[in-house]
Formats: sequence, structure tokens, C-alpha cells
Amino acid sequence: MKFKEFPFKKSKVKSWEEVFHNPRPITLETFNVGTVVINRRGTLNPVHPHAETVLDEQMEVPLLAHLVHHEKKGDYLLDAGLDASYYLDSLGGLEGSEVDEFNQNKNENIAYHLDRNNIHLKGVFFSHLHADHAAGQRELPHDIPYAVSNGEYEDYHPEVHGDFLAGLANLEEIDFTKADNIPPLGPTVDLLGDGSLWAISTQGHTRGHISFLVNGLDGPVFLTMDAAFIQENLDRGVAPRDYTWDVEMAQETLEKIIKFLGQYPQCRVRVGHEL
Ligand SMILES: [Zn+2]
Repeated sequence: MKFKEFPFKKSKVKSWEEVFHNPRPITLETFNVGTVVINRRGTLNPVHPHAETVLDEQMEVPLLAHLVHHEKKGDYLLDAGLDASYYLDSLGGLEGSEVDEFNQNKNENIAYHLDRNNIHLKGVFFSHLHADHAAGQRELPHDIPYAVSNGEYEDYHPEVHGDFLAGLANLEEIDFTKADNIPPLGPTVDLLGDGSLWAISTQGHTRGHISFLVNGLDGPVFLTMDAAFIQENLDRGVAPRDYTWDVEMAQETLEKIIKFLGQYPQCRVRVGHEL
């Protein structure tokens, strides 16, 4: 696999106010590609003082992938979800001590959703490279661009997460050190170059974790991806601990997102593992 730098220009935008004044013809659709069982205590860091009353209980949550449709620029995926191999094998053919089990019904896989809607992808942006967000790549076209944050692949261990990127010829890396800095979120990249779709560096869940903002005509939507697994992360102000690369950094990132959402109440929010 070859690495390339994801090409982008600085937008020169100074504030989200400015971004929201220029909505673009882009829409968002979310696909359910399976489920996973997680524990509520751990989904909310149990060490955090605001998590003392969180119950120790298992909960089944959806695994999601998002499609953005731009009137002129076409269709892009935000995460690849799961491929069909999970329907028969909860490990999706992956091996290793940290491979997670996922559940999938027939016709929940990402290619099924795309075929049924007659979608021809222009590209895929990964929030991060955990299997539930990336393994669907195995059944997607290989000749389209795939992009991920700088630093994310360095933490990608084939012995843990399998070979689900092996079929890719190229992986584009987004260099957030060259990005616009839009407060209060920080490094932000205008992915399609017209202010319609933004990638925001939200490190913590993984080294190169990204959240997205879709700036559509019916109002902006912020997709936390795994910076918040469930709405309760935002409501309590407590970041996840489980599956998290750097819990402290994840907490700082969550607080940044909460500040942003407080400043821009017109922005709807979608969390990583809840509909
Ligand atoms: Zn994850």
C-alpha cells in the first residue's frame, strides 16, 4: 500500500459562524451495519466524578456508517462500516487478542446498502481504523480514494485488527498540522473544498481520530464519531474509557465538542453508536 498526502487547501475561514452562513447542497444518510454489546460503565469513564451513578450493565448499540451526497461532487462514505463476512462470523475473519465480536443481520453490510440505493462512491473518509468503522472496506471498490488522519495508520496493528486494508492500493493521509484552526474545535479541513464537509481532528479515542461536520442546506450536523459513543457522553460530560487510546485526551476532546455545541445550538449532533 502506498501513502499519499490528502490534497486540500486552507479555507481561510475564521469561525463556524462563517461556515454556517454558507450551507451547501449536501445531505446525510446513516446506515446500520450491525451491533455490538458494550458496558455502560466504561462507555462512560467510571473514574470520572460525573459517572458515579452510571449503571454496570450491558447494552447493545448500533454500528454505523454515514453516506454524504453532494449535488455536484457525488457520494462519499464517512467510515466503511462492516462487510458481509460478519453475518456468519462475529469476528469477521480477523484474529488477535483485541479483535471484537460484532453482530450482523443478513443484508446489513455496507455494500448491500450502497447497491440497494444505486450509489457509486467517489471516496471514503475514515474517522479511525477500528474494525467496526473500517472493515467494510473489504467489499468496497479499491480504485477510489480512501483517507484517514495522519498518525492513525501508525497505530494500526495487523496482528490485532487483521488485514482489512490490505486490498487498498493507496491510503491518503490528512495532515492536520497544515489545517485551518477554527475555535473552539481546532484543526479542521474542508474536505471537498467548498465548505460542505469538514474533518475535525478529535484525538483521544485513537491517535488520529476524526469527527465530521456536514454543512447542508437543512442545517449543520456534527458527527462526533467515537469521540462520544452515546448521547449520555455529551449529557454527562464524560468521555468513554473502553476501547480508548488516551482517556485524558478523549476527555479534553469531548469538552471541546460540548463547548462547540453550546456555542452553536443550530448545529445538530449525531454520536458514534446511537441513532
Ligand atoms: Zn472505535
